[in-house]
Amino acid sequence: MRRISIFGSTGSIGQNTIDLIARAPQDYDVVALTGGHNIAQLAADAKLVNADIAVTAFDNHLDELRAALAGTDIKVAAGQAAISEAAARPADWVMSAIVGAAGLAPGLAALEQGATLALANKESLVCAGALVLETAARHGGRLLPVDSEHSAVFQALTGEDIQSVERVIITASGGAFRDWPIEALKSATLAEASSHPNWDMGQRITIDSASMFNKALELIETKEYFGVTPEQIEVIVHPESLVHALVGYDDGGIMAHLGPPDMRHAIGYALHWPERRKLPVARLDLAQIANLTFKAPDDARYPALRLARAVMQRGGLSGAIFNAAKERSLDAFIAGQIGFLDMATIVESVLERFEAQPGLIDAAITLDNVTQTDHLAREWADLEMKIRAG
Ligand code: NAD
Ligand code: MG
Repeated sequence: MRRISIFGSTGSIGQNTIDLIARAPQDYDVVALTGGHNIAQLAADAKLVNADIAVTAFDNHLDELRAALAGTDIKVAAGQAAISEAAARPADWVMSAIVGAAGLAPGLAALEQGATLALANKESLVCAGALVLETAARHGGRLLPVDSEHSAVFQALTGEDIQSVERVIITASGGAFRDWPIEALKSATLAEASSHPNWDMGQRITIDSASMFNKALELIETKEYFGVTPEQIEVIVHPESLVHALVGYDDGGIMAHLGPPDMRHAIGYALHWPERRKLPVARLDLAQIANLTFKAPDDARYPALRLARAVMQRGGLSGAIFNAAKERSLDAFIAGQIGFLDMATIVESVLERFEAQPGLIDAAITLDNVTQTDHLAREWADLEMKIRAG
């Protein structure tokens, strides 16, 4: 039996992971599940998979969680520290599916105890790529990509030499606003940004897909995970979301990865790796699909891509700054405080503020420094918003 834990089990990736686990309960010994506000879901899943412990990120939900699991022998806990403690419990395979920089510390704790970390939480690599990779290497832990594009690149690299890779191409659906006139983006509403043409995902990543901040994070994630140069990484808009990534080799050959837009493929691949097992995802009917279309991304429509390229060049803690400013701007957009296009403007201003103090960007990539920088970047994003509001 494999011991597994799921961080962010109540979210979109978490629920897809539970779906796979619950199909073969005899194969898994579930150690920890963690969630946030959705205590009913967390408790129901903890019972379903008979977890050892269920943890909510928020202290004020502890009593509710305890009540929901009364009469079972499932332990309960609350708070960020409790989540990292749960990640330190021995497990063979850990799903990192918390959204945002909050996923970094538990992911590191899981790697430190030698677990294989299935990484949906791209923010970990964006904020602290070198630290995550180094922690995995030091403790013999393994990192498997779950983001669909990165799982696709990983699969297209199987049996190949990374030295012979010429280019890595990740696809983007283009999000909710791909066909909107650019002038209309200014007044795009939360509801409009929260619907994705192809994928069913959490609200934050769905909005990040509309703004391409998601693809921006994925550019950085690609550089960190695969160790390729920024110049080798391309983004192509592919509205059908069936080709997830392509790897081009020195001889001109390109390996493409295709699959249905269902995250259970990438999750299941990471769950069973290095084996391939049957997964409950749709099979593509290519004759019926008939056409696959591709288009270069428009930098004017998607400033996030340009910012991500600058971050990749700058290195250091600029990824943590970029992500934190993005998270804070996204909070403000969701709260109706700023417009859709303001998000990129604020992130760019925060990056410029840090650029004036290079010592902060070039500090060592440790968990403490990343956390402090993350907090400061959020403060400066708030300041930028205040200045703008006049
Ligand atoms: P989601 O919003 O559906 O779920 C997020 C999970 O994190 C929930 O369990 C929530 O309770 C928990 N959480 C939220 N804030 C937290 C905090 N401060 N501390 C601890 N836990 C917290 O998100 P999602 O769409 O499942 O995405 C999860 C991660 O996977 C993100 O990093 C996202 O970029 C990545 N990802 C998602 C998809 C997808 O299809 N949804 C695809 C690729 C990558
Ligand atoms: Mg992705």
